Amino acid sequence: MFEVRAQALLECLRQDAVDGLLVTSMPNVRYLTGFSGTHAMLLVTGTERWLFTDFRYAEQAAAESGAVAKIVIEASSLWRGLWETLRAARGLHTIGFESAHLTHRDFERLLKDGSAWTWRPFVDVVERLRERKDPGELELIKEAARVAGAALDRTMPAVRAGMTELEVAGVLEHALRDHGSEETPFPTIVASGPRTALPHARAGSRAIARGDFLLLDFGATVGGYCSDVTRTMVVGKADGRQREVHDAVLAANEAARAHVRSGMTGKDADAIARAVLEQHGLGDAFGHGLGHGIGLEVHEGPRLSRIADVVLPEGAVVTIEPGAYVSGWGGVRIEDNVRLGAGGAELLTEFPRHLIELS
Ligand code: ZN
Ligand code: ZN
Repeated sequence: MFEVRAQALLECLRQDAVDGLLVTSMPNVRYLTGFSGTHAMLLVTGTERWLFTDFRYAEQAAAESGAVAKIVIEASSLWRGLWETLRAARGLHTIGFESAHLTHRDFERLLKDGSAWTWRPFVDVVERLRERKDPGELELIKEAARVAGAALDRTMPAVRAGMTELEVAGVLEHALRDHGSEETPFPTIVASGPRTALPHARAGSRAIARGDFLLLDFGATVGGYCSDVTRTMVVGKADGRQREVHDAVLAANEAARAHVRSGMTGKDADAIARAVLEQHGLGDAFGHGLGHGIGLEVHEGPRLSRIADVVLPEGAVVTIEPGAYVSGWGGVRIEDNVRLGAGGAELLTEFPRHLIELS
């Protein structure tokens, strides 16, 4: 599996006539080697892979990546190991680096200590490979989606008017852990009442009142892979306006799930849901894009938005998350995870999306 990924990367590098790539994004390092630590650099060339890390990860790196890369444990700076390796290796002249994942200070190291080599910037070269999920990755995302669903099932009956958003987040995150989530892939969003109009609200100290919308946007991580789900419910009885906006967002979610497929652009996918919300007079209330890729990171390619001209690749796993937000009143978002195929979208988040009224 790692060999297939490395070969795909080398093919891209060959097209750009570079002799290797210095990988400094940790999700990219993990994708190419399996290494799940927090501090490493990877050098990939046509014939060899070197993983530079420090003493803390000596055992872990050998276990996770020893079969696919030479492990170099550096006592002082990973850069020292890189320069020594580059000097010892023959035939390396032009090397790519990930310009989105290198600090300016480290870039200066390339210019000064690395002046014997020519450095060429690359953007999203590994990220583009990561967009298409292989069967093993898909299984992990499916499991992360299942864990999220199980945690939601356990959380909903525990919610009571008077609880704070943070208390609800605590119940939900406890349930995620119990069901096998390694960590929350992003800060859990629990928003209630008018705060549901903030698409990226954090859980706060607000006490939930009867009649409030309650929006939960959360995920699980399994084997490093994320799920990302949102459900919006009402604590008590829903009123007419709440039902109307929820129905419109649900119709947008259903239309997108029915018609989004690989081969269309992210912009065309976004337009499917946007057209439904516009029909309901909520076009302006849908201020963000329809979705994003998920995988080792919770926000990755491809994007589904008004400005995404790129064609959606087969095998990408993305969110479908239309929403409508009315400042001072509230908002609704219904977010699912799907795998894109030429024949349509396979749903990975199998839990209810009708408007639930929590008693
Ligand atoms: Zn989300
Ligand atoms: Zn999302």
